[in-house]
Amino acid sequence: MRRAVLALLIAACAAAGPLPAQRRPVPTPESVLGFAPGADRKLASWPAIVTWFKALAAASGRVQIREIGRSTDGAPFVVAFISSPANLARLPALGLLQRQLADPRVVPESATVENLVRRAKVFVLVTAGVHSTEVGGSLSAVEIAYRLATDQSAEIRAVLDRDVVVLVPALNPDGVSIVARWYDQTLGTPAEGSDPPGLYNRYTGHDDNRDWYAFTQVETRLVVDSLYDVWHPQVVLDLHQQGRDGSRLFIPPYVDPVEPNVDPLLVAGEDALGLATAWRLTADGFTGVAVNTLYDAWSPSRAFEHYHAAVRILAEAASASLASPVTVPPDSLRPVAGLDPSAASWNFVAPWPGGTWALGDIVRYQTEATLDLLSAVAANRESWVRDAHRVAERAVRGWEGWPWAFVIPTAGQNQAALGTLLEIFRHAQVEVRAALGAFTIGHERFYPGTYVVVLRQPYAAFAKSMLERQSYPDLREYPGGPPRRPYDVTAHTLPLLLGVRALAVADSLPVALSAPVAATAPAYRVDGLTPDADAQPSVRTAVYRSYAAPPDEGWTRWVFDTWKVPYQSVVDSQIRAGALADRYDAIILPDQDPAAILSGLPADRYPPGVAGGVGSAGVQALRDFVDAGGTLIALNQACDFAIGALDLPLSDAVLDVAPRGFFGPGSILRLQLDPAAPLSAGMPAQTIAWFEGGPAFDVTDPARVRVVGRYPAVPSDVLLSGWLLGASYLAGKAALVEVRRGRGRVILFGFRPQYRGQSLATLPLLFNAIRSAKR
Ligand SMILES: [Zn+2]
Repeated sequence: MRRAVLALLIAACAAAGPLPAQRRPVPTPESVLGFAPGADRKLASWPAIVTWFKALAAASGRVQIREIGRSTDGAPFVVAFISSPANLARLPALGLLQRQLADPRVVPESATVENLVRRAKVFVLVTAGVHSTEVGGSLSAVEIAYRLATDQSAEIRAVLDRDVVVLVPALNPDGVSIVARWYDQTLGTPAEGSDPPGLYNRYTGHDDNRDWYAFTQVETRLVVDSLYDVWHPQVVLDLHQQGRDGSRLFIPPYVDPVEPNVDPLLVAGEDALGLATAWRLTADGFTGVAVNTLYDAWSPSRAFEHYHAAVRILAEAASASLASPVTVPPDSLRPVAGLDPSAASWNFVAPWPGGTWALGDIVRYQTEATLDLLSAVAANRESWVRDAHRVAERAVRGWEGWPWAFVIPTAGQNQAALGTLLEIFRHAQVEVRAALGAFTIGHERFYPGTYVVVLRQPYAAFAKSMLERQSYPDLREYPGGPPRRPYDVTAHTLPLLLGVRALAVADSLPVALSAPVAATAPAYRVDGLTPDADAQPSVRTAVYRSYAAPPDEGWTRWVFDTWKVPYQSVVDSQIRAGALADRYDAIILPDQDPAAILSGLPADRYPPGVAGGVGSAGVQALRDFVDAGGTLIALNQACDFAIGALDLPLSDAVLDVAPRGFFGPGSILRLQLDPAAPLSAGMPAQTIAWFEGGPAFDVTDPARVRVVGRYPAVPSDVLLSGWLLGASYLAGKAALVEVRRGRGRVILFGFRPQYRGQSLATLPLLFNAIRSAKR
């Protein structure tokens, strides 16, 4: 299958044909976009950027562009391949070398590794614009491509000779246009430079960069299937922006913790390449460049590379106000973890003095950092190529102390969840085999067809990270001090999230295994909720869509669209208008800060159509809805809103506990269900809860509250994977409750049952809650 994809790409390359003898002059970005990248108050739409890349490729023998698919909303997903004309002419052959370097098992006997190393180039994937409000990235991609296409210096010629740059101008093309449109519309108004009043792609918003192991989104799949899995880049540079008050640019080394399955050679490579880039930037006179601060290397949700033999260089430039310049007085520069931006230190050698910061500065920093990185890679071509192969060899040989394999039974498993796991492994190029006979482990008998993931394959680290439980280190700001906040969440154990059983086995199995099996996407549907063709929905379900746009709202819609559960989105004005019971049976409040639900976007900044939350009129309308027999379903932090707004007989036991005593920054907990409760129908007695800053409930009027799910009474039993400080605050507390009010009900999930589209284990609880709203 994989070979077929490669062959197809090779055929596509060949079809591009020889280079034309006569080319047009290379167009400047300004001649197509109408302005130079980085000009104040100028953003380009996605079609304009694509037009420029096409014009560039038509004129330059150093650039080819390809469309690898379409975005969620149908925009062309384009990628530029930039290298010397000689390298571009032999891309198929270079691609084959990449494949052989990435998997020692396919190296032909006639070839020595040194022979491969001599002929190979370093593939450097440069990605921009995953976060669309970080507007510099896609404009920097234009500038970077232009410089590589036109610069005649010996340094750039060396880069083009030794590197193949695979440049993705936007990982989220839809967002480029969403943000540019909002910016242009609001220019010269109080909303100039504000974030748009909605997610900057259909489903995920900022969480689009948290999908690199679940592969739920179209864009993630395109990049993984058509770039990573085909070209096996050794180095990945991802252009981002951070806040305006810290360093001007962050690059690795990362801070601890590094996820323990990442090959140490990749970590060392990241450290060296980050420092080399910072060194050259300092030599070029750039100030405010920081390393080893804030950003850690724990979650694979941002780091596909770490499990696919590539180093990941995150570059975070300081932000302006979208394309509008800002003034940053020196005394407004704020310390973050590991860095005081007002003072020089080993990891921040030349402070930036403060002053005006504009989009042009962002483009300048990102462009020079990229060219410096490409140059540093070119200078060590052989090491990069050989190291990636070494990482693959070690993975195929197997790491000391790792299990031999994970065994995944087929019987007694949820087939949609099992299919999802196999799909994830297919995207990640993890080989899953089937046992050809029966075997026994301990007292358990496993039957032919049992899946086996042997941890002796190129991407074994991905499989191991995803199948095992995480034990996040207890990191503190200082000895005895408060916990040091992880950059993202702390757990990613797929068997727990999906509700699939997988067992580690220490030694090889006494049974033959099949060739890698082919996964097929499961059919997602929900009995009683997914309508047959043209039928009316059985439950009239609404999902509250705040203009403050929490990603959880988008994930909720993604889950419903994927599982074919009908719903309508409702905005603040519709909630405030009342009469909700006439139109809906169930209303879902996705995870959102209670104050944001109530007050929404500020009226002094945003126009009247989108400013303000549900307000007091919306609170009254939601009360009326429940009193008239409706079902209100609140998720995670929205529970605290519901408790207050609907005056529910509950309190949040962890609302005011300081992080020093209680901290659960995205962890998988054990949840015990009342099997007699209708909401638990079809669920095992014990499941998980994705805990992330949510409430835990004390019930003040048991006559009105049915507790459906609780955390275990013994504190040490609460945590299943990740990090949890102060488990005793949660032990025995209610986590899923059903509260009666008037003729209706409020169902409170003190966790995220549809977490980032991943927690299939707890989706039935959410579906049961909706189903129970049928009137
Ligand atoms: Zn970002």
